[in-house]
Amino acid sequence: MKAWQLTDTTGIDAYVLNDIDEPSPGPGEVRVAIKRSGLNHLDLWVAQGLPAPGKLPHTGGSDGAGVVDAVGEGVAGFEVGDEVIVDPSMSCGSCDHCRRDEIVYCPEFGILGEHHPGTFTEKVVIPTINAVRKPGVVDWDVAGSFGLASVTALRMLEKAGLKRGQTVLVVGVGGGVSASAMQLAMAQGAEVLVTSRSQEKIDWAITEGATAGFDSTSEFGKEISTQGGVDLVIDNVGPATLKQSMRATKAGGRIAICGATSGPKFDLTLPQLWFKQLELIGSSMGNHAEFARALNWIAIGKAKSPVAKVFGFDELPDALRYLDSGEQVGNVAVAHD
Ligand SMILES: [Zn+2]
Repeated sequence: MKAWQLTDTTGIDAYVLNDIDEPSPGPGEVRVAIKRSGLNHLDLWVAQGLPAPGKLPHTGGSDGAGVVDAVGEGVAGFEVGDEVIVDPSMSCGSCDHCRRDEIVYCPEFGILGEHHPGTFTEKVVIPTINAVRKPGVVDWDVAGSFGLASVTALRMLEKAGLKRGQTVLVVGVGGGVSASAMQLAMAQGAEVLVTSRSQEKIDWAITEGATAGFDSTSEFGKEISTQGGVDLVIDNVGPATLKQSMRATKAGGRIAICGATSGPKFDLTLPQLWFKQLELIGSSMGNHAEFARALNWIAIGKAKSPVAKVFGFDELPDALRYLDSGEQVGNVAVAHD
């Protein structure tokens, strides 16, 4: 079968379409014939060796959805023909964290496509706990691409204790996580403000229901604080915007961070932190129950999961380049059939 594999870590061009052996499901595993996969910035990082895959060649891809085409020994609850979504969070399954479904704290936590062979292939083998039934109302493009971004966004909002009627600022709206954060916050009854460097993305966010948009490079924090400030900021841009994000936050408010596209280091003005009694919350990926709740918000029609573009399987490097351009609003999907 065909698989897009990294042969080295020199970037997108290191992805090569290889013929590999079809994997067989072991005990407690199912094999999924992928219909759609989804791209994430993680795929770009892994292609650059950040982090380097444990073994090369490496099949990338975290998100996907398809049809079960083989089941391993002892598998109950799934049979050939079932339509499933791949939950990319992998863990040992037996430590204290895993038993409490806090798998993100498992010492063996890993992500499909980063630490394990991923979805950029015809068939992938996953443990049954990573196979989630696809609701009929969720179309294949969404099913194959919403996962990693939505579970990450949902966990950030839940860790920050978002409540109905609160105000959320989503900094740098447009990418998968920030677009999902906006949709999931609105689904939960929050008022959402956004920032972007692109007027087109601000216009999109307002069409989707955001109440106001600001230029990410402006003093948006000053402007928002004079209007009363926000309860929660989702900021995955980092040093380029965090100062303004802290300024935009109300006293006692929270700032949730799951990434930093503008770099890893930030000069924190500590008095601003303690006088306003702000909380900085780090978050990464999500647990199986959070994945299920993120999917549910989409399935009941309360949160959209926008798909910016669908590429053909043969066009995977072009799809990655499109993702890297940052032009898109929402997720990028790849059709395998
Ligand atoms: Zn564990």
